[in-house]
Amino acid sequence: MKFLDIKNKCGMDMSQTEDLYHSLGKFAQERFGFDKPPTLNLMSDENNASNPLGKTAYYDPQGMSVTIYTDNRHTKDILRSLAHELVHHTQNENGMLNDSGYHGKGYAQKNKHLRKSEEEAYLKGNMCFRDWEDGLKQSKPTIYNEWRINNMSTKEWKNKELMENLTSKFGLKMDLSLLKEEKDKKPDEDGDGVPDYADEKPGEEDSEESEEDSEENEDSKDTSSMPAGLKKYHDEKNNKSE
Ligand SMILES: [Zn+2]
Repeated sequence: MKFLDIKNKCGMDMSQTEDLYHSLGKFAQERFGFDKPPTLNLMSDENNASNPLGKTAYYDPQGMSVTIYTDNRHTKDILRSLAHELVHHTQNENGMLNDSGYHGKGYAQKNKHLRKSEEEAYLKGNMCFRDWEDGLKQSKPTIYNEWRINNMSTKEWKNKELMENLTSKFGLKMDLSLLKEEKDKKPDEDGDGVPDYADEKPGEEDSEESEEDSEENEDSKDTSSMPAGLKKYHDEKNNKSE
């Protein structure tokens, strides 16, 4: 169902999101009672985007159009702007924007009448957006859950977030998939109590070896290629027996 006349001038991909714009537009019309759906211009403006306090959206009372700047913005944020401007559209249809007073910089503070219009737009626009969003999640829980179901469980997601926060705190870059592989691998394949990196026969049970043999083997072992901890153990042992 196409409710708004959308002019996609920013060229963003709307294949997954266009329905949301029309759905919110229709919902807002039922709530605010405006008559004619406005044109919606979606714009990109590099200069405006580089300004942290650049324009996000405006309503043109003469052209009866809503213009939204979309650069670097989340769809949800753009839709919240749309709800806000649809309140101004309603005010315009009701003749409430025909104010001859001050329209310059700081009008929201200096022009009492426009301040009221702005208050109404923030309050009603945001609540309209919130109610529309919650209603959608109720009636179509898949929209809300799709991302999570397709990707990972909440627990997995939490763990990942935590790990990434920790590793970035310590300035480490970790490949989490490698970590997972390590975890799945048994450190002691044959379960003889000797970790594989130190086990003569990693695949076999060799703990029954006679003490004599193992003493001899271990004492004559070249420790230079061993992990530090193990090497220390061997060196200390050899020193003692000297
Ligand atoms: Zn406003």
